[in-house]
Amino acid sequence: MSKTQAFKTESQKLLHLMTHSIYTQKEIFLRELISNASDAIDKRHFLSLTDEKVPSDTYQIKITADKEKRTLTITDNGIGFTEEELIQNLGTIAQSGSKAFIEKLDQNDTNIIGQFGVGFYSAFMVSDKVEVRTRSPFSPEGFIWSSDGVSEFTVDLFEKDSIGTEITLYLKEDIEDEEGNESFSEYLETYELRSLIKKYSDYVRYPIYLSEDLEKPVNQMTPLWQRSKADITEEALNGFYKHQFNDFEDPMKVIHMSVEGMLTFNSLLFIPKKPAYNFYSETYEKGLQLYSKGVFIQDKNKDLIGDHFKFVKGVVDSSDLSLNISRELLQQDRQLKKIASSIEKKIKSELQNWLENDRDKYIEFYDTYKTSLKYGIYQNFGLHKELLQDLILFKTNLSDDYISFKEYLDRKKTDQKDIYYATGKSKQAILNLPQMGILKEKGFEVLLLTEEVDEFMIQVMGTYNEVPFKSIQSADLDLVDEDKKKDIEKKSESNKSLLEAMKEALGDKVKEVRLSKRLKDAPVCLVSGEGLSLEMEKVLKNVPN
Ligand code: ADP
Ligand code: MG
Repeated sequence: MSKTQAFKTESQKLLHLMTHSIYTQKEIFLRELISNASDAIDKRHFLSLTDEKVPSDTYQIKITADKEKRTLTITDNGIGFTEEELIQNLGTIAQSGSKAFIEKLDQNDTNIIGQFGVGFYSAFMVSDKVEVRTRSPFSPEGFIWSSDGVSEFTVDLFEKDSIGTEITLYLKEDIEDEEGNESFSEYLETYELRSLIKKYSDYVRYPIYLSEDLEKPVNQMTPLWQRSKADITEEALNGFYKHQFNDFEDPMKVIHMSVEGMLTFNSLLFIPKKPAYNFYSETYEKGLQLYSKGVFIQDKNKDLIGDHFKFVKGVVDSSDLSLNISRELLQQDRQLKKIASSIEKKIKSELQNWLENDRDKYIEFYDTYKTSLKYGIYQNFGLHKELLQDLILFKTNLSDDYISFKEYLDRKKTDQKDIYYATGKSKQAILNLPQMGILKEKGFEVLLLTEEVDEFMIQVMGTYNEVPFKSIQSADLDLVDEDKKKDIEKKSESNKSLLEAMKEALGDKVKEVRLSKRLKDAPVCLVSGEGLSLEMEKVLKNVPN
């Protein structure tokens, strides 16, 4: 009673895409099949609790390679398929919305395949033929489904006693031609299979065995981040971090998030003690590892973390992200954005907490990553100003310790209208500025900006808590009381010809020569007009100092 049927149009499209895209992540087929096996066991386990037709079992997933036959077989004792289910679930893309998804696939590059999984059909990326032998507890007979993944599939009766599914892949021949090599034989090698299972399916809840060793499961099964905080030792966390992110040192900080409610996810976030070797170069890739219900999806998801916190490493596991191809990408994006925003708030509050309660620790962090935070404020026209401004610290003319903007305002003189800052190559260079004299006399605190990004950041900020920033190197710095001003005006009038002569002598080198209101000990100083300071102009013109 062999029945041959055509795949539904959508399925044919997806199959075509699978077999014809030169797809670099072929290896994800194993992840997909293991994840299906795990889902099927979930279903059986769940039903066995309520339905007496469904017996429970010792659940497991087994993987067997046969080099001679070039087959790879994935066996599970999950729920299995009835005949209708075989036709329905493997002949069509059952879920609604899948059509829209495939249309998106057509327009976009195929990278999203690797990100969100495409399920069963990915087997055809590596196989010429696939056979599914299966038995459902709801059917008295077993069945075999078979297809070359082009346009048709066949379903036949098949004698199978045990409940569950066995999927056999007939691997494609290796290709060696001018266009390069493509190997499929590697999926028959135990070490390769082991490493793929470790990489993608380590945290699948059921044991995965390779047929060579039925004693010891390849996967670790419970992900660290799904365990409760109290059950995880610091050692385990540090070990996990070092293993997962290839670091030799323990992390500077670990943040464990477990969020439930409208949005459900677990996350382990780490701040490395030292930035990655390429942290400041373009080759550095930010991102968090993304899992869905313990199944690895993506190594560096960039949407989960903003550039300003790009030093953070970690994993995010959410049950709200489905591996279904049926889900629309937009939906995925929305969930990811919500998770990202929750993570961002958490990192901010942890850092803030350090800043307020463990200043030494915060300064260790700040000295390592301050440039990222400052760029974070500068980027996107200050979009993240509110988020980040209270994490910024500067040293000042009055203090060798870092202070925050808030602390600056808390202790500023009552008659002081602005937040003063000065830029220079080093702290000493700034302290030597001639303008410093009068500020010192008045006891005004001046933020010392020594990094290139500092002034760009301040310019983008404009104000802090509505108090404007003011460069002591700008021409309109006005610190003098009225009497002194009148005095200077008078002197300027009586010395007009001298000032004009000086301007003439200096020519185009200066815009104007005038008597200064700001000098204390130094006889002369250069100031810049509105806008950029001299230091910033130097940066922009790239003039070596
Ligand atoms: P998804 O897993 O996203 O639903 P897949 O293409 O991976 O989509 O699988 C299609 C359907 O086939 C699944 O929804 C499931 O009903 C069924 N299925 C796949 N693999 C198995 C299996 N090992 N045991 C039982 N059912 C399976
Ligand atoms: Mg699936």
